[in-house]
Amino acid sequence: MLKGNLFTGSEFIEQGVIVVEQSTGTIEDAGRQGEVDEPRGEARTIAEKGSTILPGLIDTHVHFFGTPGPNVIDWVTVPEPLAAVRSVRDLLRLLHAGFTTVRDLGSKVGTHLSQAVKEEIIEGPRVISASRPLSRTGGDDDLSQLPHRIAEALSYSYHCDGPWECRKAVRKVVRDGGEAVKLYASGSLSQERKGHVHFTVEELKAIVDESHLAGLKVAAHAWSEEGLMNVVEAAVDSIEHGMWLTPEIADRIKKKGIFYVPTLSVFNATKTTRSNAYRQKFIKRHFAEDMEIAKQFNLKIVSGSDYFGADITPHGQNYMEILSLARYLGNAQALVAATSRAAECLGLNNAGQLKKGFGADLIIVKGNPLRDLEAISPARISHVIKNGKVFTPNA
Ligand SMILES: [Zn+2]
Repeated sequence: MLKGNLFTGSEFIEQGVIVVEQSTGTIEDAGRQGEVDEPRGEARTIAEKGSTILPGLIDTHVHFFGTPGPNVIDWVTVPEPLAAVRSVRDLLRLLHAGFTTVRDLGSKVGTHLSQAVKEEIIEGPRVISASRPLSRTGGDDDLSQLPHRIAEALSYSYHCDGPWECRKAVRKVVRDGGEAVKLYASGSLSQERKGHVHFTVEELKAIVDESHLAGLKVAAHAWSEEGLMNVVEAAVDSIEHGMWLTPEIADRIKKKGIFYVPTLSVFNATKTTRSNAYRQKFIKRHFAEDMEIAKQFNLKIVSGSDYFGADITPHGQNYMEILSLARYLGNAQALVAATSRAAECLGLNNAGQLKKGFGADLIIVKGNPLRDLEAISPARISHVIKNGKVFTPNA
């Protein structure tokens, strides 16, 4: 049983109580003190004055590249066993930083990490892995300085061209145990390539259709007017990055109910290391017009850091995205974006809320994050509870 102020994922309750059923890892009840039946007897109570209990944080966009290096050449050449071992450390950091669910939108080790967490061999957040992202030939992480055969063998993506190859690539993700699908519909700013549109609408529609047949959500890396128009037309589930939003595109995103994941913190983190003028133009606008338009059209904005475990984007600091979002949305809505709405974006119907019957994924922080958002920084997290199991990161 837990007592304290609650942020339920949508509302703040002063003097709340949560009863956790540890054997099933679920929330038996949650609400205002006096309105919830409190168990008697030997129940263990965690109650700290001035603390707030929140749903476990969710980062909908990470990568487990397992290398300190910041560039694609590091990501594709790091030996996989080493990437996996470093990622085990990253998972523990994420858990201790209050993240109980993360979505890996592409890496060589994500499905295996997900499996190891499920088997309880390692401690970490639940990992929803997209396995390998889908990318076209000559697209993202297809290193053009190498012979194609070698670039394809090193790539962390599945390269596919034409609707049937795209469908087959989705089937490979499913075969790998992937629980989401990631596609690159625009080029990669990090690889400093111009070219806004990868994949045709026909290819995008094939990917979305095949993914939905398998019950998987589609996350689309997309930016530029044309890139965004295409993924909206193909009706993907979430738009990642989403630079160069216009009112017309935002209106369509809204009507289709597509989630918008602006990944602000990765752009902040890489501001100085990747400072070419072309990139800067898009990013500058992203922090100003794009976010204003997203707010104005009341898009379903979701927290996704795009941190990948490098020195400049270390796992464990992923709450930076929530701080970045708060500048536009305010503290309460930024927390919604990292809890209940993030769960909705991932298609999880029993996570992201402190609610009867939901999974017992929650954190206890010192202070009130609605007043002072730094309360969710790793140093101020006293307890992380995942599936009813208690961790004390700063004990
Ligand atoms: Zn990413």
